[in-house]
Amino acid sequence: MSPKPLVTVCGCGIIGLTSAIRLSQAGYQVTVIARDLPGDPLHASYASTAAGAHHLSFADDGDTRQQAWDKRTFDVMMEEEQTEGEASAILKIRQVEYYASEGQTHIKFFESLPDFRMHEKSELPPFAVHAVSFTSLTMDTGPYLAKLVRLLHALGGTIQRADLSSLANALAKCPDTSILVNCTALGSASLTDVMDSAMHPLRGQVVVLNAPWCRSEGRTLQVGELAADGGEGGERTYIIPRKSGQVVIGGTREANDWNAEPRVETTEDIKRRALMLYPELVPEGARVQGKQPTPSDLDTIVEKVVVGFRPARHGGTRLARGENLVVGGRSVPVVHNYGHSGAGWQSCWGCAEDVVKLVSGL
Ligand SMILES: Cc1cc2nc3c(=O)[nH]c(=O)nc-3n(C[C@H](O)[C@H](O)[C@H](O)COP(=O)(O)OP(=O)(O)OC[C@H]3O[C@@H](n4cnc5c(N)ncnc54)[C@H](O)[C@@H]3O)c2cc1C
Repeated sequence: MSPKPLVTVCGCGIIGLTSAIRLSQAGYQVTVIARDLPGDPLHASYASTAAGAHHLSFADDGDTRQQAWDKRTFDVMMEEEQTEGEASAILKIRQVEYYASEGQTHIKFFESLPDFRMHEKSELPPFAVHAVSFTSLTMDTGPYLAKLVRLLHALGGTIQRADLSSLANALAKCPDTSILVNCTALGSASLTDVMDSAMHPLRGQVVVLNAPWCRSEGRTLQVGELAADGGEGGERTYIIPRKSGQVVIGGTREANDWNAEPRVETTEDIKRRALMLYPELVPEGARVQGKQPTPSDLDTIVEKVVVGFRPARHGGTRLARGENLVVGGRSVPVVHNYGHSGAGWQSCWGCAEDVVKLVSGL
């Protein structure tokens, strides 16, 4: 039997790596080509390394495509957590979602998760009008991406670094390519043969704490509505404990803001909001009976402040076949998988499996 064709995947974030792995598992030869690779110093434009990252869907109640991606990814990651233990880089937690605005309620997706429960009015803290809880998952981004790189190599896939000006440029570097998969996220705004003007950054700033005593429960406070078309709208304060003992607190959401530097006043605001939601973050030695915690109580446990640009797209994620690339008399099919905004981690495996379906149908 002749070997399956070579697929070149452009982009090595969570979306490119999971796509490459599923394609390798389906029998394709796979090469990944990207400017930023796991293990590089943090960079705002490499969203996968800046993310929280928890599995917390924003899928609109009518959005069956997003719901399916998010649910499939949850099931795959839950299986990883159960079978790989420490090495999974995934933490299983109890997640509590609080809603502050009158009339607000949870998305239906949460009802499909294990241990879902709607909280009684009598259980609500003063800042919430509604709350639900369920079992969720969080990822240690660096170790999880490193694990995917090892898996891809074990499957025979290769990775090379290149800053591309176009998808055609990737074909020039990998001339045996039969199919090209574009997972370049915000890069799709400037690659000269994609130039997707719907792509834009949604800046996010988070603070990474070292607080291993807070490993069992994640919490989110939603103020205002999620976006009407499914998405991370309103003001969200979140506490994301990780297996490593880090706890990520956030967040912010600034459209078309390319400032890659943390803003000091934002860091203080994040700490203030996080303490209101999760006072247990204060290290034991700094707790004073009867005293309200203040942002400076967290100063000794701040590891770093991180800024990232979510790869947002007007009209939603583009996971579809594109125009063939015609280069030097050859016509190469293209499949796009980019524009996951704030949901790339929680939808990655579902999206990767849809990429395999599109590639297999070519
Ligand atoms: C603060 C913050 C918190 C987040 N929290 C969550 C969360 O809790 N849950 C969740 O699901 N998601 C979360 N996200 C969103 C998530 O991080 C993204 O959706 C996801 O990382 C997108 O993955 P990606 O692989 O498409 O993009 P990226 O990780 O940005 O990777 C893009 C890849 O394409 C390459 N590339 C781009 N342009 C070029 C070029 N010209 N030449 C060569 N290579 C190129 C890059 O080098 C990189 O390898 C968060 C994001 C941020 C910023």
